Amino acid sequence: MKITDHIKKANGRTLFSFEIVPPVKGKSIQELYNNIDPLMEFKPPFIDVTTSREEYIYKEKDGLLDKKLTRTRPGTLGICASLKHKYNVDTVPHVLCGGFTKEETEYLLVDCQYLEIENVMALRGDARKEEKYFTPTQGGHQYATELVKQIQDINEGNYLHDTIETSDLSSFCIGVAGYPEKHMEAPSLQSDLKRLKEKVDLGADYVVTQMFFDNQKFFAFVEAAREMGINVPIIPGIKPIAVKQHLQLLPQVFRVDIPQDLIDAVEACKTNQDVRQVGVEWAIQQSRELREYGVPVLHYYSMGKSDNVEAIAKELF
Ligand SMILES: Cc1cc2nc3c(=O)[nH]c(=O)nc-3n(C[C@H](O)[C@H](O)[C@H](O)COP(=O)(O)OP(=O)(O)OC[C@H]3O[C@@H](n4cnc5c(N)ncnc54)[C@H](O)[C@@H]3O)c2cc1C
Repeated sequence: MKITDHIKKANGRTLFSFEIVPPVKGKSIQELYNNIDPLMEFKPPFIDVTTSREEYIYKEKDGLLDKKLTRTRPGTLGICASLKHKYNVDTVPHVLCGGFTKEETEYLLVDCQYLEIENVMALRGDARKEEKYFTPTQGGHQYATELVKQIQDINEGNYLHDTIETSDLSSFCIGVAGYPEKHMEAPSLQSDLKRLKEKVDLGADYVVTQMFFDNQKFFAFVEAAREMGINVPIIPGIKPIAVKQHLQLLPQVFRVDIPQDLIDAVEACKTNQDVRQVGVEWAIQQSRELREYGVPVLHYYSMGKSDNVEAIAKELF
């Protein structure tokens, strides 16, 4: 079922969902199941599965460092299929511009059709670690807008090199990213919102936001988006802080601000277990206020261990 239909069916009730990251290549999927099992009690209608870009790894060979380009966390679509089968839940693979040619994207989408995966999250992806700026893959897309267009074209039977005349067209429900504190490369929030509007105009059905820790930023973002004519559901992404290093890491990687009250509470913690508790309490408070505001879904970034998301869900769902 499409995410937008799940939202309609909920009839104003706020839904619970979360995002997971595939395990490192070679690790068993069982650990992922162990983390997801306790969260299924809260009946998520969908689970997102991230895609990681290829990256350079260095291996010593004959005294020299051998540089190889590899994907350390492959398997997004396999995991989506496996979770759908095991838990009877909708899964949303993240589809990236970076690292994929248009043809590879087309084949991935064909696989999604066969697996009856109806939702995809269309993203540009970040620059590779050693690159300062995002460089499009040869034969791939530069911006998420182009990816949205390719998916929408397929929904209309227009594949890259042929038009398929069929009454059995795909009808992917397309999610895109939004940034309450603007994307790090955007010159202003307003120009970033214009780009978001382009994605929606090209066929995106809903928006999931980057993490944020101050709800006022989300409320202002939604208002500005609505003023601009972005009328699709906007789903807040919530990340419970879990370790002290997040105070530096999250602003550095995601360019998000952390409110002083939260910084003070984390800094006062003696152990990482205390930090985890502070993160859970902050996320519960944020979630309650967002639910009151009427968000359609509360979407959590679980990033591995799920005990904190479980603690939050227990209070809310
Ligand atoms: C909910 C969510 C899930 C994510 N999941 C993943 C994941 O699984 N894997 C992963 O690698 N990354 C993921 N990311 C990170 C994302 O890939 C990065 O934030 C990336 O840098 C931007 O992706 P985007 O789709 O927002 O790009 P875009 O929408 O293409 O925007 C990128 C930048 O370009 C600007 N821009 C857009 N169009 C144009 C144009 N025509 N001309 C000039 N500028 C333009 C935008 O303002 C923005 O600054 C996720 C992010 C979010 C919020």
